[in-house]
Amino acid sequence: MMRTYKFRIYPSKRLQETIEEHLNICRYLYNYLLEQKTKNPKLNKGDTQKLITLHKKENPELKKVHSKVLQIINNKLWGSLKALGKLKQNGHKVGRLRFKSSKNHYKTIEYNQSGFKVDYTTKRLKLSKIGEIPITLHRKIKGVIKGIIIKKEPTGKWFAFFQVEEEPKPLPKTNKVIGIDLGINGYAIDSEGNKFENPKFIDKTFDKIKKVQKNLSRKVRGSNNYKKTKLKLINVYDKLNNQKNDFLHKLSRYYINNYDKIVLEDLKIKSMIENKKGQKTLNRHILDGSWRKFINLLLYKAEGAGREVILINPAYTSKKCSNCGFVVSSLKLSDRLFFCPNCGWNIDRDYNASLNILKSGLGGSVVPVEGRPLLRIIPYIKVISGQVSPMSQGAPSVREG
Ligand SMILES: [Zn+2]
Repeated sequence: MMRTYKFRIYPSKRLQETIEEHLNICRYLYNYLLEQKTKNPKLNKGDTQKLITLHKKENPELKKVHSKVLQIINNKLWGSLKALGKLKQNGHKVGRLRFKSSKNHYKTIEYNQSGFKVDYTTKRLKLSKIGEIPITLHRKIKGVIKGIIIKKEPTGKWFAFFQVEEEPKPLPKTNKVIGIDLGINGYAIDSEGNKFENPKFIDKTFDKIKKVQKNLSRKVRGSNNYKKTKLKLINVYDKLNNQKNDFLHKLSRYYINNYDKIVLEDLKIKSMIENKKGQKTLNRHILDGSWRKFINLLLYKAEGAGREVILINPAYTSKKCSNCGFVVSSLKLSDRLFFCPNCGWNIDRDYNASLNILKSGLGGSVVPVEGRPLLRIIPYIKVISGQVSPMSQGAPSVREG
């Protein structure tokens, strides 16, 4: 399986200029190939590939960039053409592929198979035709590095993304399954009665974002103060992302380590239902995005660990009684407790949903023995520091990663 690792790199001023120059050459070549293809639509991928070699003779500047890096530009172009063709096929109105007219439209340099080397002792990334760049290798690479992508993020920081081919390492079976309800009242409520608190930093950082945004709106566009404030805003967003990712990595790791099967609602279907009900706030958007990311992390980690993630149709998960199956249609969003008039079941609403989710994922085979009146509340700080272990004994504790 392929995994991506992100490492910070520290190119000197001179090297940054070299990389920028390479980016310009890459962008130029992309536009050149697209132009040739537009002029002569019969050209195939092999033809445009040959054009690179031919064009090198006319334009020796291209030789400044590693040859494999140039080849990948052709792949990129054809990838975009193919994607565009697919959209057209599906009946979407699409224009032509656009030329990358500005620096902002071409941001990555890609090395594939060759032209790069990682020196673990000197902690340097060696890139052919660019040079040696100091790198922070905060974790060990266990597989084979297939490619490296160099990118400058809006914060001004440079990163290298390693694409690594790894052998999957199945974790020992735990014989445990879990259903998870993702919510607003708690970030995640699971069928073992754990309620993971919403990360507080989301609210805190969100307030900060609003403040800086307001500040920015008072500055003159393009002025130095404007640029400064804009960078500040980018940095706050960046911080929010890092905190969020850390939390999501650890929470997903907790579930992957402790459960063989993990059941959740399919958010694609869920948001289709919810979007009809009106607009979402920005705050809600951030949460929404993080749920998606959380599920993607689970899927990604499950693949390597030999776990199963099941996504179910969310219809009725919150309105159905997890004890007898009776549907309570009068349940309001503000009702924190679920009360079943049919069997008398009285239970936390999100906990009830998580039981339904689990049941649905396992084909209706689980019935809780008793309702748990009190949920175990887990503050996010415990997740961050990896101090959570499951309710029942015998399961392994949370590990890093
Ligand atoms: Zn009932």
